[in-house]
Amino acid sequence: MLLLGATVVLQSASIGAAVATSAPVYSWIIFGAGILLGWRFKRSQLVVALAVLFAAERALVFFPAVGQAAPVGRIVFSAVALLLPLDLAAIAWLSERTISTWAGRVVLGAILGQPLAIALLLRPELTPLVQALQQGFVAGGLPFTRIPPPALLAFLIAIALTALRFVVRRTVIQASLAWALLAALLGLHGTGPAPTVYLATGGLVLIVSLIETSHRMAFSDELTGLPSRRALTDALIRLPELYTVAMIDIDHFKKLNDEHGHAAGDQVLRMIGSTLTRTEGGGRPFRYGGEEFAVLFPGKSPEDALPYLEDLREAIEGSSFTIRGRDRPKVRPDKPVRATGRRRMVSLTVSIGVAEPDEVGADPDDVLRAADQALYRAKKTGRNRICLAE
Ligand code: GH3
Ligand code: MG
Ligand code: MG
Repeated sequence: MLLLGATVVLQSASIGAAVATSAPVYSWIIFGAGILLGWRFKRSQLVVALAVLFAAERALVFFPAVGQAAPVGRIVFSAVALLLPLDLAAIAWLSERTISTWAGRVVLGAILGQPLAIALLLRPELTPLVQALQQGFVAGGLPFTRIPPPALLAFLIAIALTALRFVVRRTVIQASLAWALLAALLGLHGTGPAPTVYLATGGLVLIVSLIETSHRMAFSDELTGLPSRRALTDALIRLPELYTVAMIDIDHFKKLNDEHGHAAGDQVLRMIGSTLTRTEGGGRPFRYGGEEFAVLFPGKSPEDALPYLEDLREAIEGSSFTIRGRDRPKVRPDKPVRATGRRRMVSLTVSIGVAEPDEVGADPDDVLRAADQALYRAKKTGRNRICLAE
């Protein structure tokens, strides 16, 4: 959407002059703010990507491919067009973890060496290489774009590499790097203020992805992938007048942790979490904390929600969870190895407390508390059951 917006702005003739004067300001603000944010959020992958986009944008502005310095500008342009996509693809394959490994250092070193490499291209001895860069295999370039064929090939390779990376690692940031690559392609293809506007918009996409990632981290639970308690607090303010809250607590979970280890406990939490996502009747699950979950039923009375909760309770009771052995190898072995020791099956049950607002506009916290009290009664009266608030 941001790239579409940039395209519309660049196409509209009426604000053409305004765009041309404000594009440099836009670029400085985006890259300045983006690099600052990436640094504060400790996202070196994004900082490097933003720095590379900014350097490319500055290089294209400083060495225009028109006017007196056109020969130099054309060399810079064809070098930037070749290197930028490859850099972005290499950055997409780095992660926060690998940026400090030797592979990461090699990539960073290669990126930092590029201005020097471009400066060397200006030497007369390297004219044949420059000609190859500018024309490649099609004499006189391509009819539909000013991007030289070798650079277009680099873009194709980079798009394939970045897409592959996204398939392996599906995160918002990886997706945003693919969009930044498209922004680079559009920017190099365009003329006038287009390179600046597109490259800065690519930077904006990266900033938005950073904010979105932080938002997701705050509102979703890392272990189970369910929405977190903060998301529940948020959802409670947006509920209709009629709703039902169910608090779900795993029975004797401490014992399971003690007997099978904390890792097995985590595994069980994940499995229960995934069972809860299959709640029917419009129930929305949250991880409340520890081994406690909440399910919201907007627009439903406890009587309406009860059959679905009963289904949940039975599903958990009826399923047998297999605990993976402690000797399970961390890395997948080349050949399958027979597991030693027996596979341990544990049976699990949950207790559930259910409540609804006792009057229109009741404080959702009171409803939660009532559900918690009902849960307490479910525990006291024998567990593996559902109790309604009185
Ligand atoms: P009850 O049937 O009365 O609910 O007993 P319980 O043992 O389930 O309840 P209790 O509140 O005594 O213990 C909850 C345990 O859950 C204690 C804690 O070690 C464990 N726990 C909390 N969060 C996590 C987690 O994220 N992972 C794991 N593995 N254990 C957790
Ligand atoms: Mg508990
Ligand atoms: Mg418990």
